Amino acid sequence: MDSVQLTGLVLVRRDTGESDRAVTLFTKEEGKVTVTMKGARKPSSRLVAASEPLTLLRLSATKGRARRFASQTQISTSYPKIRADYVRLLVGISLCEAIDSLTPSHMPDEDFYEFLEQAIGHLESSADPWVGFMWIALRLFELCGQAPSFATCHTCGKLLNTTQIWFSPHSGGAFCPDHQNLAPQGILSNGFALIGLAALAKKDSPPPHLKERNSAIHMIDLCLREFSEKEIKSLSYAINQTL
Ligand SMILES: [Zn+2]
Repeated sequence: MDSVQLTGLVLVRRDTGESDRAVTLFTKEEGKVTVTMKGARKPSSRLVAASEPLTLLRLSATKGRARRFASQTQISTSYPKIRADYVRLLVGISLCEAIDSLTPSHMPDEDFYEFLEQAIGHLESSADPWVGFMWIALRLFELCGQAPSFATCHTCGKLLNTTQIWFSPHSGGAFCPDHQNLAPQGILSNGFALIGLAALAKKDSPPPHLKERNSAIHMIDLCLREFSEKEIKSLSYAINQTL
């Protein structure tokens, strides 16, 4: 049987079969892949922990008839600093689901994998995990070629510096009053939050605070819904629980 060694971050999992889990990871070697972990829902299984989102794993993936099965799983880290803090954990799981919904399967990308490892490091250490999350999400948008304009008009490039800005991730970002008719799906949004996000996108690492943080988180949620064409459920849950 063909078997390959993979190193990757568990993004999401879903139940399958009687007691199995289908686990999606972003791996260094093959990009995003899904493997079946046999018996991972049995309480006594070693795979209970290995199939948790936000776990860095090494494993062997073996080809079955229709699926690939994981064997010899070894946990490199389950990020105890993130798991020790409820908000940080919810934010981390949201990040994993967002990455899953934004990335295609079987597209190996070592640079992206390296970014991912660094990003989780920032999530562990940032003073405010939500600011860390937004900083990472902005990088993700750039890497996926979908970075919206937050504080300049998408059409004319004019710098927008008002309390309310017309914003439509569907049409490319922010619009000045002269061009907002080009973005019919837009909404009048908190200008300070959008200007803050424009500044955050230029930082080399997440700052400790962000003005209008909660409004900014809602803007990032709006962008994620647009770019992944669905709701990021764990993000909605994290927002409801912690903002
Ligand atoms: Zn304009």
